[in-house]
Amino acid sequence: MRTVPSIIHLDMDAFFASVEQAAKPSLRGKPVIVGGLGGRGVVSTCSYEARVFGVRSAMATAVARRLCPNGAYLWPRFTAYRACSEQVMAMLRALSPLVEQLSVDEAYVDLAAGPYGPALAAAAPGEGAELVRAICQDLRADIEERTALTASIGAAGSKLMAKIASEQAKPDGLVLVNPGLERTVLGPMAVRALPGVGPATEQVLRRAGLMTVAEVAELSEEELMRLLGKAHGAGVSLMARGLDDRPVVPDRDAKSVSVEDTYEVDLADRDRILHELDILAARCVRRLQATGRSGRTVVIKVRRFDFSTLTRSETLRGPTDDEGVIAATARRLAAQVNLTGGIRLLGVGVSQLADFTQEDLFAQAAAEAALAELDAQEAAEEEEPDAEQEPLPESGAAAGSVAAEPAGVEGGAPAAGAGQLAAQRIWLPGQDVTHRELGPGWVQGSGVGRVTVRFETPDSPPGRVRTFLVDDPELTPSDPLPLRPPPDA
Ligand SMILES: [Mg+2]
Repeated sequence: MRTVPSIIHLDMDAFFASVEQAAKPSLRGKPVIVGGLGGRGVVSTCSYEARVFGVRSAMATAVARRLCPNGAYLWPRFTAYRACSEQVMAMLRALSPLVEQLSVDEAYVDLAAGPYGPALAAAAPGEGAELVRAICQDLRADIEERTALTASIGAAGSKLMAKIASEQAKPDGLVLVNPGLERTVLGPMAVRALPGVGPATEQVLRRAGLMTVAEVAELSEEELMRLLGKAHGAGVSLMARGLDDRPVVPDRDAKSVSVEDTYEVDLADRDRILHELDILAARCVRRLQATGRSGRTVVIKVRRFDFSTLTRSETLRGPTDDEGVIAATARRLAAQVNLTGGIRLLGVGVSQLADFTQEDLFAQAAAEAALAELDAQEAAEEEEPDAEQEPLPESGAAAGSVAAEPAGVEGGAPAAGAGQLAAQRIWLPGQDVTHRELGPGWVQGSGVGRVTVRFETPDSPPGRVRTFLVDDPELTPSDPLPLRPPPDA
């Protein structure tokens, strides 16, 4: 056991939305929602100002729009997010070779393995904690100075506690949990605070009258194993007592993303199995998108009633992060497996990962826009934007004449190349553009043959809005600008 809280968990605050606010001065202090804006779109991140209205990540964008009608709804700009992420991760790697990146904006760092390791090892426990506090405050200040973004950090003697501490530190804070205080901090928390305790496990524990971590910690390991099964029960028992010796494993080049579920009762019904595969595909896609990547090979894992485990995979023509494509492929793969007799575990994964490219994003966005337009036609309810309030026009209805096929109808390959899309002049809310005379700006919205652009840059005051015809030759898509000028400028 460590005597110094030398494992840190860093998590950028409302990452995608914060990058947008840093890039777009007119959005600072305002509700910003980043995600899929088409008919089936889901919120990936929202700013704290949007959370006040009840908007949350993973919520359907349509629901978010009802809760927060005057928010800025933007398509994700993965290129910009990845640039910021790389800056932050490089700063973490300067602190230790042991950096375990969990997603584009989240990582564990083991400070004991880095340049501060010897000082931390030599320090008395109290001094060690103060040194960690100083390192973390410097890190937070450096991140803000170099990226214009804020990070929250938890520091503790284990990954479990560091992650819980960073949760408590949010937003823009630092929380240390000194080794020895794990049970005090965890005790009053709801059981769901423990990793691996999802809704199903929570239900089982609740039925046994166990609501808090302290109550679970009082049970013997044997009792928990009886309740939750051997492996799971043993894991939960350790976590509840604050015991976690999982090492920080550098994982820069993850080769795949996968999720799986074990079922309390074997699944026997074919439709139910296919439904569970859909749910797993959705979870897998959320993870994939959190890392800003896409994958080419879809894998399913099936453990049968007799514990025989098999996998099946299919490689698509191009990388995708489309939930529909991945779910359909998983279902196809399940058809190759004998599902009779009962299924204990199902998994869905994606491998052969590729970084998300702008092309993928636009192809996907165009497809979503096309679908959204169909939805809008069916619903046939169009609201005129209120000119006073300067709301962002609907993106979905925006891309009026998009002819792109939904991505993946041809086995997951993006439906259209960037060139083709450029020819169609699709302007997505949030997208970076340059006007030949007016300079850099971003698309605020488009519709009815017009596109509205706000001309501002990360270091300018809030900019003015101008409207153009969608095929105005002076207007071209451009790359994201850095949030801070390079140090030598
Ligand atoms: Mg975050």
